[in-house]
Amino acid sequence: MKEKLVLIGNGMAGMRTIDELLKLSPDKYDITVFGAEPHGNYNRIMLSPVLAGDKTIDQIITHDLQWYEDKGITLHIGKTVTGIDRGNQIVITEAGKQAHYDKLIFATGSNPITLPLKGKDIEGVITFRDINDVNIMIATAKIHKKAVVIGGGLLGLEAANGLMTQGMDVSVVQRGSILMDQQLDQAASDLMQTELEAKGMTFLIDYDTAEFMGQDRVEKVRFSNGIEVEADLVVIAVGVRPNIALAQQSGIMCERGVLVDDTLKTYSKNIYAVGECVQYRNETFGLVAPLFKQAKVCAAQLANVSNNKYQSSATATKLKVTGINVFSAGDFNGDEQSDILIYHDPSRHIYKKLVLKENKIIGTLLYGDTRDGNWYFSLLGMQKDVSAMREDIIFGKHQVSEHLL
Ligand SMILES: Cc1cc2nc3c(=O)[nH]c(=O)nc-3n(C[C@H](O)[C@H](O)[C@H](O)COP(=O)(O)OP(=O)(O)OC[C@H]3O[C@@H](n4cnc5c(N)ncnc54)[C@H](O)[C@@H]3O)c2cc1C
Repeated sequence: MKEKLVLIGNGMAGMRTIDELLKLSPDKYDITVFGAEPHGNYNRIMLSPVLAGDKTIDQIITHDLQWYEDKGITLHIGKTVTGIDRGNQIVITEAGKQAHYDKLIFATGSNPITLPLKGKDIEGVITFRDINDVNIMIATAKIHKKAVVIGGGLLGLEAANGLMTQGMDVSVVQRGSILMDQQLDQAASDLMQTELEAKGMTFLIDYDTAEFMGQDRVEKVRFSNGIEVEADLVVIAVGVRPNIALAQQSGIMCERGVLVDDTLKTYSKNIYAVGECVQYRNETFGLVAPLFKQAKVCAAQLANVSNNKYQSSATATKLKVTGINVFSAGDFNGDEQSDILIYHDPSRHIYKKLVLKENKIIGTLLYGDTRDGNWYFSLLGMQKDVSAMREDIIFGKHQVSEHLL
């Protein structure tokens, strides 16, 4: 009899773990997957291109229902797991369905943070996380005109861009002065704001949201400075929080996320965790690259083929807005001990920044011309001493003498 493996969360990290496991040991487990969403697995990252009309939902499905059937995996879609009996090693869904596990993977992802403000539950106030949210946005754009996106981070700007492509007038609200402040500094943010304004986006910078107003659906957003802006749709994109309610209630050790060790084991017997629900040391996650590394380590553990350890590393981010090229990785702000190299050509909307410490790149931020992003990122990853190429490095790989590369 095969051992039983149960996955809670039919999303990007959990299913990548199953993919990796099937490569290593296709016959070891009898696999059951529970997913709260009513679909096969899809590439969540590509929801932005779907909203912008560049892709269809069908094109972003990575594992359709047939795939699970072909692999002999039992899939329960639209089924939320609401209980775990750790003593008897059983998971239980909302509808009372039970499944026994020998090994359990916890991959419940994140929840979008909502704003605890008056009017937060009015129709038309939504977040941006799944296919359902995108369908609501596309349907709303067909009959309404004015959208307000709260949050000028990566997700907020991708939502704003998509809604604009769908024909809406969009205002982006940002609490601080820097857009995409996890990825940009003030200079790059200013360049981006100018370019997005030229495309028709409006920005409300340094605004603090106070209330959502409306009768049957949202009509206005009021800010703490007293200004009110009309809105038929409000998209809140102010960050995510690990989805750990089930883990907490089941007695699995959590802090901000489900705590895991270097091999993605939780502190409960036979239970692993991967993805945005996880806290590794003091770190939680919001991008897929580290989650895919976790998936590899966890799969190797489950397959019993290696004892590789997960290690955190810098991640790189790009914005998926056509015509806006941004590449950001590592510590792009630096501190007193770092050297900062900058090339800034405002009229061509180009800004490049390299942050060095002890002659090694620790961060990079490229706006406008991102051709060298991957090269800088690989130098960062290798921790290569770049002192010999310091004079030319900011101008890009093609400017550095070949013998120094
Ligand atoms: C619009 C958008 C754009 C993004 N763009 C980028 C990008 O450009 N680059 C990047 O690196 N990252 C991007 N991300 C982030 C990336 O999508 C996430 O890091 C990734 O999806 C996290 O994977 P996960 O498996 O941890 O969570 P998810 O993919 O969210 O999967 C978790 C799944 O678990 C299900 N679930 C939760 N609780 C239960 C339960 N109790 N029972 C059953 N099922 C449950 C959820 O419904 C969900 O389907 C983007 C995210 C969004 C929303």
